[in-house]
Amino acid sequence: MLSQSTIVAVRAYPDMVGVLQDYVTLRKRGRNYLGLCPFHTEKTPSFTVSPEKQLYYCFGCQASGDLISFIQRIEHLGFQESVELIARRGGIAIEMAPDHDRVQRPEDKVRTALQDILAQARRLFSAKLTPDTEAYKYVISREISPESIARFELGYFPMTFQLGEALLSHEVTPELLNKTGLGTVGDRGAFSSSFRDRLMVPIFDERGRTVGFGARRLDGESIAKYINSEETLLFNKGTLLFGLHLAKSEIKRQDAVILVEGYLDVIMMHQYGFVNTVASMGTALTSEQAQRLKRLCGHVFLAFDQDNAGLAAVDRAYSVLSDIGVGVRVIRFSSKDPADYLLSVGGEGMRTALEDSVSYVSFKFDELVRTIGVGSIQNVSKIVDTIVPFLKQEPDTIVRHHYVKSISKTLGIEQDVLMAKVSDLGYALPRKRLFQTSQQRQSKYVLAEEYILFFLASNREVQASILYRLGDSPLITESGRELADAIVRAEHVHHDLLAMLPEEQSQRLAQILVQYSGESLENWELYCDVILQYHREARIRELKAEIQSMESSGQGHELEQALAELQSLIHYSEEAGV
Ligand SMILES: [Zn+2]
Repeated sequence: MLSQSTIVAVRAYPDMVGVLQDYVTLRKRGRNYLGLCPFHTEKTPSFTVSPEKQLYYCFGCQASGDLISFIQRIEHLGFQESVELIARRGGIAIEMAPDHDRVQRPEDKVRTALQDILAQARRLFSAKLTPDTEAYKYVISREISPESIARFELGYFPMTFQLGEALLSHEVTPELLNKTGLGTVGDRGAFSSSFRDRLMVPIFDERGRTVGFGARRLDGESIAKYINSEETLLFNKGTLLFGLHLAKSEIKRQDAVILVEGYLDVIMMHQYGFVNTVASMGTALTSEQAQRLKRLCGHVFLAFDQDNAGLAAVDRAYSVLSDIGVGVRVIRFSSKDPADYLLSVGGEGMRTALEDSVSYVSFKFDELVRTIGVGSIQNVSKIVDTIVPFLKQEPDTIVRHHYVKSISKTLGIEQDVLMAKVSDLGYALPRKRLFQTSQQRQSKYVLAEEYILFFLASNREVQASILYRLGDSPLITESGRELADAIVRAEHVHHDLLAMLPEEQSQRLAQILVQYSGESLENWELYCDVILQYHREARIRELKAEIQSMESSGQGHELEQALAELQSLIHYSEEAGV
């Protein structure tokens, strides 16, 4: 366990921007840094880092936090591992705490425990995959070699295997076991699991830790051929890539990854020497998976199934990858999936298919010609309309020209006609950044409220002064008042405060801290006055209405009082001049 002083040193690590630069290209903008968000797909930068506040905030997806939380999120690590990673990078000594002074968050503890249980289950399943089982016969029938079985640590969950009994122990409680996604322990201690009589394919995270399983039925073709672990603390389908722990270094070395759809495809590709192959987890490629690949390499080869679902997956993957600037090539082959293709043409044949891979535009164009046909002028015009937007996206003029040339030739149309279509549209105006306009949109009162929240969360002394100054006059919006209350109750500022607040409030506050960072704390009084003025104006409106009704009902004394108050308020407002 890490010592508190190591954690404190990492929290205070001065070069937050430097660490973030490993993941995001940041440009200085005023006091802050700005870049394309690594947590969601965007074309206009809204990921903002405040070196002064040591915080980041994305105006697009509201991701926010400090350096440690950034590393947790981007590397999919627990708190302690993230602290260690930063410490190693920053040359901070990693000290371990004595036992009585342990700092392990409850979530990290559960995480580690779950990893241990899953690793143990993996070993048990492995041992059950003996040559006499149906599962083994299936694996061999698919020509998976014993080396591959060992490399991917395949296993079997026999029908009658008492997994619950094998795993439950003093440390492994039913409650914990239920969190693994392996199955559930019932009231009477019986363990039920939907993985029984299935081939077990362990799923590892990038660092080779077991996080879940894919399980394949053995009774031939059925609807749910594979089932995956349900989503758990460790198993998040959208962030994992099957085979990445084995493929990672080769992906880096080749600066390229081959992306396939199925577990079996990955296993066979590796078996034939294409070790830089991974699969998304039975779903369309997510932007998180794409970002993960982008951090390892610049090129993705798609070798998806040659059916309609596979074609749709190519479209989706292309759009996600090209959005973040990763080059995409499509591999075409004549079998239903890469595993089958390898069995029919071998490694050499696959190598040729890789060399003959095409750009997405070519792939799309060939698909259109194949499905629509070029038999009539209507068809040709339909193909042109579909392909032109893709050609427009091609940033390189020479490449664009090349496509225009070859496409117009195939379609039998004039090059100039197609070129004119490709270049006629102007550039789309960049979307206005959210926080440039929101500031202008907000009334001065709401803006003042944000400043007040910024001051409240920045410094305890200023906080006390503000509370005194505002007295009974609360902030203006409901959410502002709630946040202010939470800040004051928490009795902390900055990072400690963010960690204590509920998610939504924490995000809002992180935004405010980043957005107003650099604002001088001395200005707190100014913004208090704006808030006080808001309440005066509200009171003036109230009094005017009251006075009107009193005039008609003839309440002399009260009317006098109200008039006096109104006069003094109006006078005060003019004096204050806000
Ligand atoms: Zn974002």
